[in-house]
Amino acid sequence: MSLYQYVKKNKMLTAVIAAYLVVTVLSPDKALASAKNSIYYLKEMLTVMPIIFVLTSLIETWIPRQIIIENLGDKSGAKGVVLSFALGSLSAGPIYAAFPICKALLAKGASVLNIVIILSSWAVIKVPMLINEVKFLGFNYMLVRWLLTTVSILLIAAATSLILKGSIPQRSSDASSGPIKVLSEYCISCGLCVDACSKYFTVQNGKVTLTSAPPAAADLANIKEIAEKCPAQAIILQDAT
Ligand code: SF4
Repeated sequence: MSLYQYVKKNKMLTAVIAAYLVVTVLSPDKALASAKNSIYYLKEMLTVMPIIFVLTSLIETWIPRQIIIENLGDKSGAKGVVLSFALGSLSAGPIYAAFPICKALLAKGASVLNIVIILSSWAVIKVPMLINEVKFLGFNYMLVRWLLTTVSILLIAAATSLILKGSIPQRSSDASSGPIKVLSEYCISCGLCVDACSKYFTVQNGKVTLTSAPPAAADLANIKEIAEKCPAQAIILQDAT
């Protein structure tokens, strides 16, 4: 990989290194203090993130997509909102730990609205935080702050969902054709879908992808059955009835 490709692929890391270099030249003392802070947070992340990655893997592997869609998806309604507030509020750990978990939930069908609620409540209305607030600032303060924050989170989540509607990028390995979507990242290349319906499914380089044939309405029931049998739950029939 050339330097240009590396920089292009790691824009944020490159920007941080460049900022460090500039600060080191202009103000070595500040650069040293920044480096100490960075090392402190790096150590903290090394203790937290392994657990989070295990949790994320468990979500990706063991929780069926259908359960996530039903409870946190676009059509989960009030149940999804309440569950998202509960997930965020009862969580433990720093906010950056929430990002890989939310990424896994989003990939499995959680809605943008619910992801914003989880992230926001994780950041600002965690239960241990509320208990400390009562202790130091009083119950009334905590209650008013909680109410106003909860309403704000709902408004922000609704606005984000509206703005991002239909614009969550697919992973480069994902593909869709009409109502069929395949999440190639999850495919274990068992060949079941290809054997059952090579008209629409094909496996390339060990991962499922879709042929260019547009799905016929008469085949949707068969495709739904294949999606249900896919051991990796890598096939989604969107808006299937
Ligand atoms: S059935 Fe699922 S896991 Fe098997 S090849 Fe098709 S998409 Fe991949």
